[in-house]
Amino acid sequence: MILSTIRNGILGLLAFALGATQAPLDKVTLQLKWHHQFQFAGYYAAQEQGYFRDAGLDVRILEAEPGIDVVKEVASGRAQFGVGSSALLLSRYRGQPVVVLAAVFQHSPVVFVARSGSGIASVHDLAGKRVMFEKQADELIAYLHKEGINEKTMTFVEHTFVPDDLIQGKVDCMSAYLTDESYFLDKVHFNHLTFSPRMGGIDFYGDNLFTSEDEVKAHPDRVKAFREASMKGWKYAMQHPEELADRIIARYGERRGRAYLLYEAQKMQALIQPGLVDIGYMYPGRWQHILDTYVELGLLPKDFHLEGFIYEPEAGVRQVNRRLVTVIVVLGGLGALLGSVALVLFRMSIRLKGEILSREKAEAAVRLEHEGKAKLEVQLQQARKMESLGSLAGGIAHDMNNVLGAILGMASTSIEAQQPGSHTHRAFETIIKAGERGGKMVKSLLSFARQSPAERQELDVNVILREEIELLERTTLSRVHLQMELEPALRPILGDASALTQAFMNLCINALDAMPERGTLTIRTRNQGKEWIEVLVEDTGSGMPQEVLERALEPFFTTKEVGKGTGLGLSMVYSIVKAHRGQIEIDSEPGHGTVVWMRFPVCEPASRTAELVVENRSEPSTKTLNVLLVDDDELMQSSTQAILQALGHETTTASSGESALAILEAGFKPDVVILDLNMPGLGGTGTLPRLRTLLPFVPVLLATGRADQAAVSLVEAHSRVTLMLKPFDLKNLRKQLEPWTAVE
Ligand code: ADP
Ligand code: MG
Repeated sequence: MILSTIRNGILGLLAFALGATQAPLDKVTLQLKWHHQFQFAGYYAAQEQGYFRDAGLDVRILEAEPGIDVVKEVASGRAQFGVGSSALLLSRYRGQPVVVLAAVFQHSPVVFVARSGSGIASVHDLAGKRVMFEKQADELIAYLHKEGINEKTMTFVEHTFVPDDLIQGKVDCMSAYLTDESYFLDKVHFNHLTFSPRMGGIDFYGDNLFTSEDEVKAHPDRVKAFREASMKGWKYAMQHPEELADRIIARYGERRGRAYLLYEAQKMQALIQPGLVDIGYMYPGRWQHILDTYVELGLLPKDFHLEGFIYEPEAGVRQVNRRLVTVIVVLGGLGALLGSVALVLFRMSIRLKGEILSREKAEAAVRLEHEGKAKLEVQLQQARKMESLGSLAGGIAHDMNNVLGAILGMASTSIEAQQPGSHTHRAFETIIKAGERGGKMVKSLLSFARQSPAERQELDVNVILREEIELLERTTLSRVHLQMELEPALRPILGDASALTQAFMNLCINALDAMPERGTLTIRTRNQGKEWIEVLVEDTGSGMPQEVLERALEPFFTTKEVGKGTGLGLSMVYSIVKAHRGQIEIDSEPGHGTVVWMRFPVCEPASRTAELVVENRSEPSTKTLNVLLVDDDELMQSSTQAILQALGHETTTASSGESALAILEAGFKPDVVILDLNMPGLGGTGTLPRLRTLLPFVPVLLATGRADQAAVSLVEAHSRVTLMLKPFDLKNLRKQLEPWTAVE
């Protein structure tokens, strides 16, 4: 008793002494937009973890009272910081000088929920229905506009925020928060449909942290400190939802119960995406999209601009988010980028081949005759330059695979959260298709440059063609009629599927180019005796005059305008067909279309059983793996981690072989290691033997964009090492991990 009194006294004195030496805390107020709940967990975490205090701040967190206007509170200076929706833009237009500091919810949680079975199957069915609606939900109004739905056709009911009204049938539909009302509907297993503005391509930010221009001007350091501490708090909160739920209850009472808070937390994971996005990250292009949507709705004038609205503390912050900007820019320009990079690389490698040929010729020439040597010297030098360009191409391909890996990773995880058939789902599908095609292009480029062993697999050409047609059907206009005449029992051939895909795709593109108005593209396959199969690509387009036909296979020969043709298509087709020991002939007549005829030698259908690996589409495995992910590339790290998370696995990351070994030496025992081959320092090659000494039995997936000889020998030299080709997506990784996720 006495002891404890003395101890408390000493502690008190100590605290006093320490306090006296520190500057007093800066008092600020954060005004929330709703009641205390998980929605604001990051701020509570910043408070309770002492992040605010460490930043020199004494923060009062106020929940919203009825009738409170958060923007007014902040603009008037009664509160320094506030939480607001994307409608902050409108407030700014109306003369409230708000500055947005961070987008915490990367997507708005606002949706429509409708009674199922009330004749509503899509948003279009809301006409004539009773809809309980929160007028501030601009993204919903924008969604209706985008879908061409007139709000006047609905009966508006003032929002009561009582989900029971929907359950009881007082209304047919209501605006709701995915994180909130849905909980009560789910809890009583009430069948309902959800329509998200994202299905209509409207993607607003959800909760944003904001302040006023005055505050930014007068207290720049305080603003910066508050933002940083808050985001740190958010990171903590999203990692420790249970703990935060308990703290919220302890501090603010059990208004809605722990289960509700945890439901909120879980839904928020998808909206905040803490694994993918630096919390709070804002992309100006997204704000522009939001602004444009408001302009479309007539809520903002055309000349309204973002200037001054988005907080820019210093260049440093931008840098932190560079990787994300990269991803978005890459996604946006994916087609252009891939197309041009791949073409440049192709151009390089073809030139290289040509140069090597000419070098060989040159050398022969040197041997034969001794004159004209100065000119040849120049040619030789040029050829060497080209050769080094070739190995450069290999390096670029590796980086390209990392970029593609990140795109595929993000897209394949995000697509799972989308409603099949929705706009966003389709968008992700296209991104995935494009990413996969990019991966194949890089692969065929490498094999073209002879840096990667060409695959020789037993193939059904019909399967390749069908996939291709499917892609064409999606991307070509209805102007061209696609016709398929595929031999049902086509014999298999031995070859490289991605190279053949590339070749057939080039022929189809040529055919489409030759039919700018309308026409028919016919793809035919047939068995020709026992030894050959034939593939024909026919069009009813412009055809070729004799002088074009004669030169059509020449590299760089094109009749198309700059930017449209490269003149490489047919020469590539030619070399791919030759590499498959096939033959090609082109028949064409001006005005009568073109037929490209190819034939390939048939292979013995020996290894049928090996082909019978059925793709596993079953439920995710029940066994959680502890995965050690070693990759120096930040993009790869975060996207792979996102995939692993989606598959239900735990990930520990290391950005070099050295640090992975350190983690293992410290006693960490992963179930599986994903090891990048190409890293600075020890790299995969140096890390693998040391890792084997520490963990003799752990399976290792060796990730690389290039299955070259070095990679293959490394795999062969160690047990339990599997090669995993980059880029990979959710499906690939799931398959790779299958042997260890199966529950015995
Ligand atoms: P590119 O398509 O980039 O021009 P290609 O090597 O694929 O290069 O084709 C070379 C040229 O052959 C084309 O520019 C075009 O003039 C002609 N050509 C190829 N395929 C067809 C076709 N199906 N119909 C008419 N002309 C064709
Ligand atoms: Mg072409």
